[in-house]
Amino acid sequence: MKRYIKCGKLFTAAEDNAKADQTLVAEDGRITFIGPSDQAPPPVGGDETLDYSDYFVLPGLIDAHVHLSYGNAQTEEDIDLFASVEFRALRGLYSAQRVLKAGFTSIADPATTGVVTLAIRDAIESGMFIGPRVTTSGRQITNRQGLSDWYPTFIGVPVTSIGVLARTAEEGIAEIRTQVKQGVDFIKIAMDGDAMNPATGLISGYNQEETTAMVTEAHRLGKKVVVHARGAEAILYSARAGVDVILHGSWMDDEGLEAIVENGCYICPTLSLVVNDIDFTQPGDGCYPGFPDAHRRELESARIVLPKAREAGVPFLYGTDCGFAVTPYGEWNARELEHYVTYLGFSPAEALQSATRVNAEFVRRGDEVGLLEPGRRADILVVDGDPLADVRILQDKSRIKDVLIEGEPVELALNDDIKPTALEKSYSMWSNVYTREKVAEIMGGDQVTPPLRARTA
Ligand SMILES: [Zn+2]
Repeated sequence: MKRYIKCGKLFTAAEDNAKADQTLVAEDGRITFIGPSDQAPPPVGGDETLDYSDYFVLPGLIDAHVHLSYGNAQTEEDIDLFASVEFRALRGLYSAQRVLKAGFTSIADPATTGVVTLAIRDAIESGMFIGPRVTTSGRQITNRQGLSDWYPTFIGVPVTSIGVLARTAEEGIAEIRTQVKQGVDFIKIAMDGDAMNPATGLISGYNQEETTAMVTEAHRLGKKVVVHARGAEAILYSARAGVDVILHGSWMDDEGLEAIVENGCYICPTLSLVVNDIDFTQPGDGCYPGFPDAHRRELESARIVLPKAREAGVPFLYGTDCGFAVTPYGEWNARELEHYVTYLGFSPAEALQSATRVNAEFVRRGDEVGLLEPGRRADILVVDGDPLADVRILQDKSRIKDVLIEGEPVELALNDDIKPTALEKSYSMWSNVYTREKVAEIMGGDQVTPPLRARTA
């Protein structure tokens, strides 16, 4: 049986424009024909037609920076400690389905607990569950100056963390070999930390020699390497070591850019977490105002240095750091398109190409997705409106008409009303120290006789 997909407008991601009145034919999930509707081979008995004559059709989007094991986490402890690893896998599958419904037919996960995202990947790929195609790393390899080493040194990086502490290149290489045995698609190294933590700052956790040794071994084992690198030093060492993808790149200097160009690295800026944090974090939140302030500084730098990389011909992947409380699954994944246009100087078509064709150059079986052309899988997004005129329409859920995996419209009735379980979240009790002075400030009255509430229910 063939499936005829009639498109009012079709953007294949191969070109910058969309064409009107096109038909796409898929057989066994793969595209066999794309062209003007009046030139399409005629359907025969048993063939089906999906009529999207009033809609805009484009390749399913790809988010290369989604963390399925995080669970819309409000704290690092939520991510690392408070849900069982088994629960995280089940929750992660549900989260993946939410991202799919938002129009993302493929995702990549750089840093997961244990092998949680590998399990989700395999459960979807085997056909047990509907979900996006998944490409994943294992735990992120980190050192004392990197992400995931948040806890007091006597605790270390717990085994349920999304990170694994490798204090030397030898330990890193041993971990890489283990992860490759477990079936990861790529290796993730947290080269530095975040901009807020003054203890770690943005010093690289590994020196050049250590970085090169780990990257060389991962490549020898046939795996790409993705690094978290915000600061100039981590970016430089990563690029010189020949990593495949640099996440963030916000404080890249000229030397770093030169090494990136020379070694053919991709950059995945991931502005969504930064911008959402600036836009949405509230004064009552634990990270306020430090984190939004740090992200303001980061955005100031990123919007200057990243366009330089683009001018130098560096290819940009598209990712969002989805999975935190400020970047929940399926809610803001399409907002990064807007940031590419606003901050990085992309046209809507170029932003869409980053989220489709360019991302496909990174993901597992990338020659089968990301572009609509004969031979590739018919992973498709159908929207009401023209994202080339206004890329923000992809953020409007009411405009997502259909999401197709291999030519088949996805039907997922997801429960929107999920209640967090008691053991899923960290044990946060009070946000203030209630001294007499504080109580008087919050509740009024004086410090000797504060106004009290009723003591019986
Ligand atoms: Zn991330």
